[in-house]
Amino acid sequence: MNKVHPHPHLARSKSLLSIVIPFFNERAMLPLLLERLLPVVSNLEMSWELVFVDDGSDDGSAEFLIDTIRREKRIRLVRLSRNFGKEAALTAGLEHARGEGVLIMDADLQDPPELVPDMVARWREGVDVVLMQRRSRRGEGWFKRFSAYMFYRLLNRACRSPIPVDTGDFRLMSRRAVNALLSLNERNRYMKGLFAWVGMPTVVVPYDREPRAAGTTKWDFLGLLGLALEGLTSFSAAPLRWATATGLIAATLGAVFGLWIVVKATILGDITSGYPSLVAIITFLGGIQLLGIGIVGEYVGKTYVESKQRPIYLTRDIIENTAVAGSSQR
Ligand code: UDP
Ligand code: MG
Repeated sequence: MNKVHPHPHLARSKSLLSIVIPFFNERAMLPLLLERLLPVVSNLEMSWELVFVDDGSDDGSAEFLIDTIRREKRIRLVRLSRNFGKEAALTAGLEHARGEGVLIMDADLQDPPELVPDMVARWREGVDVVLMQRRSRRGEGWFKRFSAYMFYRLLNRACRSPIPVDTGDFRLMSRRAVNALLSLNERNRYMKGLFAWVGMPTVVVPYDREPRAAGTTKWDFLGLLGLALEGLTSFSAAPLRWATATGLIAATLGAVFGLWIVVKATILGDITSGYPSLVAIITFLGGIQLLGIGIVGEYVGKTYVESKQRPIYLTRDIIENTAVAGSSQR
C-alpha cells in the first residue's frame, strides 16, 4: 500500500477502461456499488480500473475503500483535500484516469453498472462519446422533474452548443474526448456544458434511471438553482442580452404610456390623477433594474473567480495498491 503524489504523465493503455466514480459521504452505497460493479467489469473483454474520487467525505467512505484496495489492485482512490463539489471531483477523476476509454458514473447506483458492457460495445463501434439519456426519472418528485425540464429548455435557447435533454454525467468517453475536455481549464466547471462544448461524434443511448438505493441526494432546491444559474451564465452571454431587451421593452412601454398621458391631458382635457399607477411603474422598473444589475454581477463575479487562476481541486493523496507484482506502473 503506497501513497503517491499525482503525476501528470500517466502511462496510457490502449485496452484499458477507466471508470471514474466521484463520491461524497456514500459509505452506505459503496459496498452495494462494488457488489454490482465488480462482477460486471470482471466479465469485460478488456482490462479495467476504477478511479474513485473522495470529495472530502467524513463518514468512513474512504476507509472502506482503502480496505478494499488492499485486496483489489485495480481500484485507486484519489482523495481531495476537502469537499470541492461533484464537478471538481469529476475533473480530478478524469485527470487521474489512464484508460483509452473513460466511463463516468455516480456512486449511488442511479447509473446501473449492468449497462457498462453495452456502453463499451457502442464505444467500440467507433464513437467518441456514448451518452446515456434518462428515459424515466423514477423516484424523483414532480418538482425536480418539472424544474429539470424547464431548465434544459431555457439553457438550450441560450447556448450555441445544445445540451441534450435528460442526460447527466453518466457516459463513456474516448481518450480524445477526455483530453479535449481536460484542455478546458476554466474554474467554473459546469460539466454538462463543457461536455456539450467539446462535441465529438456522439451516440445517445436511452436507459431507465434508478432511484437512489440508500443515503440522500446532495442536492437541495437552492443547490439546483445555483447549478442552473451557473450553467446559464457559464455558457452563454444571452442573459445579458435578455436584460437589454427587457430594458428596451420597458422603456418603449414607458414612452408610449407617457405620450398617451400627454394626449389625454391636452386633447381630451383629462387632468391625470395617477398616483397608484406611478407607484406600480416605479416598483416594476426598479425590479427590472435590480435584475439587470444582478445579471451583470453574475458575469463580473465569474470573471473575478476565473482571474484568480486557482486550481480546480487539491489532492490530499492518492491511494493505490502497488504491493502486488505486475500492478499498474508509473
Ligand atoms: N457528489 C460528490 N460531491 C458532492 C456531491 C455529490 O462527489 O459535493 C457525488 C455523489 O456522491 C454521487 C454523485 O456525485 O456519487 C451524484 O450525487 P447525488 O446522487 O447527490 O446527485 P443526484 O443524483 O441527485 O443528481
Ligand atoms: Mg444520485
